[in-house]
Amino acid sequence: MSDSYDVIVIGGGPGGYPAAIRATQNGLKAACIDGWKNQDGSHAFGGTCLNAGCIPSKALLESSELFHRAGHEFKAHGIAVPGLAIDIAAMQKRRAQIVKGMSGGIAMLFKSAGVTGLPGTGKLLAESGADGARVVEYTTLDGKVEKLTAKQVVLASGSVPTPLRSAPVDGKHIIDSWGALELPAAPERLGVIGAGVIGLELGSVWQRVGSKVTILEALPDFLSVADRQLAGEALKQLRKQGLDIKLGAKVSSATVKNGAVHVSYTNAGGEQQLTVDRLVVAIGRRPYTEGLLGEGTGVQVDERGFIVVDEHCRTGVPGVWAIGDCVRGPMLAHKAKDEGLMVAELIAGRYGHMDYNIIPSVVYTAPEMAWVGQSEDQAKAAGVQVKIGSFPFVASGRARAMEATAGFAKIVADAATDRILGVHIIGPMAGELIAECVLAMEYGATCEDLQRTIHAHPTLSEAVHEAALAADKRAIDTLNR
Ligand code: FAD
Ligand code: AMP
Repeated sequence: MSDSYDVIVIGGGPGGYPAAIRATQNGLKAACIDGWKNQDGSHAFGGTCLNAGCIPSKALLESSELFHRAGHEFKAHGIAVPGLAIDIAAMQKRRAQIVKGMSGGIAMLFKSAGVTGLPGTGKLLAESGADGARVVEYTTLDGKVEKLTAKQVVLASGSVPTPLRSAPVDGKHIIDSWGALELPAAPERLGVIGAGVIGLELGSVWQRVGSKVTILEALPDFLSVADRQLAGEALKQLRKQGLDIKLGAKVSSATVKNGAVHVSYTNAGGEQQLTVDRLVVAIGRRPYTEGLLGEGTGVQVDERGFIVVDEHCRTGVPGVWAIGDCVRGPMLAHKAKDEGLMVAELIAGRYGHMDYNIIPSVVYTAPEMAWVGQSEDQAKAAGVQVKIGSFPFVASGRARAMEATAGFAKIVADAATDRILGVHIIGPMAGELIAECVLAMEYGATCEDLQRTIHAHPTLSEAVHEAALAADKRAIDTLNR
């Protein structure tokens, strides 16, 4: 037996690495084992989010949006950009540098917090050490195996893309979201299977820099997780930008021939064909627990592959917790992080809590979308008599100055108590605007609370203020409907 810790975290993504840091902040001795491997075989902390998810996608969304705006909006400002062009290699170099810098940042954070960062893989074993400590088998990157012990183990192994049998990823023509983030050039014709958050973001990136993008979505409804009004506006805006979003289109096969991908799908009209140069499979993600659990640990995994946990992320096996994408709940980095922090507090005997009803969602398309809490339909289905207040960005002075007037902010509130039940924003900086609404809902705020909060002028946040006023037909800057 070698090193022993208070806490070993297996997985160094946005769930695992903050859990390890918070554990040391709480005076515990912590290690974080992480096995992420980049496509060149090098190790990096940060998991999917940092290396192949949130961060690289936002880097490309920013570059491609600037390019799009320079081509489509600058003229309105009186700015001429003769010979406007985008250098995809430079865009990708920037993306890679951001990722590398942030991953290196985690190694530095570990060092300063006193977390032992252990590149390699971890497996929870059934055996126990002295005083009932949990035993973890740690395999280093060069294959050395050793046993470590800890009083508590946090499983944070994350998720991987869900494969689609009818369109197997070959890494060249048929690719997953990671492949789509690292494309060296814009394909002339790009197909995307799945109009979920990832499919829409990646489709937007490549469409803005020149690809003809077709998105095939099996469901008849667009963004079924979102408020219907928001989803309707999003579909309208994204189609206007040129994204060819086909709903009710179920892919049945995809084959590569002469360098092109021939996709068959069925829709209401029957069997259809689509030919593209690259096809991205973005039909969701599944929990990843391969090699994580030794025989007989007692940790339960459900039929969909998620590690079973209670509302405090306890697995039911004493001293073993699980967080992030490998457990139930939305697959979001901030959900993973907050679960990690909660667990690290509970382990230290402190207070820890997650409010699963108030987790914001953001889609970083343009216009951006963000929501928290219940949609109008969900609130109505729950039997609540609702009142709705909405404010269009076209009536916002700041949005007009930004040349970003599409979309609206919408508040769903309980008509009887005035309490805010949900907020749905599509428009500029929606992901930033939602933070105020999350805080308001955490404090159980009413529309009146938002109405009586002074919002600086001219800011986009006034849209939230006006939406709260509109819920009581007291809006100033838009017609009360
Ligand atoms: P992960 O980030 O997957 O990290 C798990 C880590 O554990 C990995 O490094 C893995 O290699 C390692 N590991 C697994 N098994 C072992 C083992 N046995 N031993 C050692 N290490 C192991 N979410 C957002 O909130 N906002 C976004 O904008 C966003 N954009 C996204 C864009 C894309 C293209 C994708 C794919 C995802 C995006 N997500 C976004 C989702 C987000 O990336 C995940 O929800 C988040 O990474 C989950 O964090 P995690 O720590 O649970 O798992
Ligand atoms: P998300 O879960 O947000 O990543 O979204 C994935 C999307 O892919 C969902 O909207 C699914 O309905 C969609 N999807 C799943 N399977 C298929 C398929 N065979 N063809 C087209 N779309 C699919």
